[in-house]
Amino acid sequence: MRTTQVKTTCSYCGVGCGIIASSNDRGQLSVTGDPDHPVNKGMLCSKGRNLNYVVQDQTDRLLYPQMRLHRSHPLQRVTWEKAMLRAAAVFRSIIDKHGPDSVGFYVSGQCLTEEYYLVNKLAKGFIGTNNIDTNSRLCMSSAVIAYAKMLGEDTVPVSYEDLEQTDCLFVAGANPAWCHPIIWRRVEAHKTANPQVKIIVADPRKTDTCAIADLHLQLIPGTDVILYNAIARRLYDTGRIDKGFIRDHTEAEENYFRILKDINLRKAAKQCGVPLNDIKLAAEYIGNAKAFMTMWAMGLNQSKVGVEKNGALINLHLLTGQIGRPGAGPFSLTGQPNAMGGREVGGMASLLAAHRVLANASHRDEIARFWGVDSLPEHPGLTATQMFDALESGKLKAVWVICTNPVVSMPNVNQVVRALKKAKFVVVQDISARAETVEYADLVLPAAGWLEKTGTMTNAERRVSLLQPLASPPGEARPDADILCDFARHMGFTGFSYQNVSEVYDEYVRMTAGTNIDVTGLSHQRLKKEGSFQWPVPTPDHPGTPRLFGDHQFYTNTRRARFFSTSSQRQGLPAPPEGKPYILTTGRLRDQWHTMTRTGKVSRLLRHQSRPLLEIHPVDAFELELADDQLAEITSEYGVVRARIKYSKAIRKGVVFLPMHWGKTLNSPLTRVNNLTDDKIDPYSKQPNFKFTYVSIRPYRKP
Ligand code: SF4
Repeated sequence: MRTTQVKTTCSYCGVGCGIIASSNDRGQLSVTGDPDHPVNKGMLCSKGRNLNYVVQDQTDRLLYPQMRLHRSHPLQRVTWEKAMLRAAAVFRSIIDKHGPDSVGFYVSGQCLTEEYYLVNKLAKGFIGTNNIDTNSRLCMSSAVIAYAKMLGEDTVPVSYEDLEQTDCLFVAGANPAWCHPIIWRRVEAHKTANPQVKIIVADPRKTDTCAIADLHLQLIPGTDVILYNAIARRLYDTGRIDKGFIRDHTEAEENYFRILKDINLRKAAKQCGVPLNDIKLAAEYIGNAKAFMTMWAMGLNQSKVGVEKNGALINLHLLTGQIGRPGAGPFSLTGQPNAMGGREVGGMASLLAAHRVLANASHRDEIARFWGVDSLPEHPGLTATQMFDALESGKLKAVWVICTNPVVSMPNVNQVVRALKKAKFVVVQDISARAETVEYADLVLPAAGWLEKTGTMTNAERRVSLLQPLASPPGEARPDADILCDFARHMGFTGFSYQNVSEVYDEYVRMTAGTNIDVTGLSHQRLKKEGSFQWPVPTPDHPGTPRLFGDHQFYTNTRRARFFSTSSQRQGLPAPPEGKPYILTTGRLRDQWHTMTRTGKVSRLLRHQSRPLLEIHPVDAFELELADDQLAEITSEYGVVRARIKYSKAIRKGVVFLPMHWGKTLNSPLTRVNNLTDDKIDPYSKQPNFKFTYVSIRPYRKP
């Protein structure tokens, strides 16, 4: 039997595992981990191992464009030409009447870099609006801002290899054992081979990640900054700081030290709910390490003080000089496979390509000249939650949603539904009819999925990989890049006539010349021939850059890293609203991905957990008269959810947990966890506060 094979990259999390995908004569697909890939060395987690079933099962696929002229009408099949003519006509008419900022694009960290590049070029360069944002806003925008403020640019300085060289790893607000499993397998192997390596985990839940931890700091949600500052104070008090590094390579330390001096360790321990001796022990482990790393994800980022949390954690590296050396440095994980690639091409309402700054007029001019347009809009565009606020208020008239499912994934999702109903025109470009957002679309465009198109992604360690096709898209589905270029041409824009998607990549690559993320040494051809590379890769023979800041020359104007002066959390938590004393936190399950449009159709992945369960401490459940597996009603100031109870001693008393994945089930919107979540946002990063919502809980009884 003849078999065709391609090397590609997993399309789920930001770990970026290499996959060998094969197709036989009968079109049956199989996947295995690529043994030569530097990330996973042949390993795959449960989600990656089942990707072939996701692609093979096409029963849910959107196969042809569909349109309706009125919201009360059903969607009807149309030709691509008719769909494009309508999209262009409606966008043109809205823009003519209300200006370019009356339209917006909401895209995804699952888009390929070339797609991200094109939609940014289209919106910022040609339509003339910065209203292009991404669901990565919900994922890592707090880390982006903290890096830029402290290191001078949005730059993850380390590699997975560093995890295998560290003496002390502090995992904060992340559960990599479930959410970034292949990285965690590498950490587990390092710990097994080197039992003296210390692992600290800070999390309100005792997750599987804690299984190999030497110390679990089970803090109260929202007290992260207090905890990190308390650890810093203890490092300072015990002389475990690097005075030479601080003197020669940092700035803004005076204010930071003033904040540290105000800290009362005993009070801080009480505020965090963490024993004082554990804070001291954490400081001892960190301070004694030759090489110290931090690793974090949504527990820090998804907060209305997400940037402060990031800042307080990265401060520990500046305080101890633990950056730019093997096994040392801060490492923010990305949830999505191409959240990093999107950032590179400026794929957010507040960014420009190649880490140029939107507020910088000469940067805007450089990009405008590059694209052959007069200018780029100066003011930042609407971010994810702001876009839906603006749709609801009528300021934004049309939104084009690509590869994301906001009616499940956004916070305060009832408002998102209201906003989409109010919008004048909604385009949904997706692969799956399972994406509930399709229900609110005036125009549905079927897109090609994983293994059906070409392009690049960048993983959490700055590693750029090529994704290659093995199958044709079903029906009339087309690669997202084709759809975007087609729309641009229908709008009458020049500059979107590419022969193939590698030309799009080449265009982006030219834009990076001379910047800190220079990838002029890369092309699709090189990535196909030689495999993946970590940026910067400035010449065709450059091997890539596993670690940054070895010379301690940071990307700030002064070349010094800048301490972040935290403030907002020193006073403790906000008081709960009347009758809602429990803190709800949300997160991922091991075998599910986002809103389950793909993993939800693989029955073996549902075996791990097939329905949303509210994890609650048995003492809280007893006080609420809730039995294990009983149906409960959870209420926040935003909405209501019903879920069955799961007793768990792994969660703090007073805190409850719901998984983020489920949308409507059995036509009931009451299984959507984001009915409940808080839509407040961080003032710097505009990232929402998914990890902290006060709720009430009661047994549910049928009326
Ligand atoms: Fe895919 Fe992430 Fe699993 Fe690797 S760890 S196989 S990238 S889901």
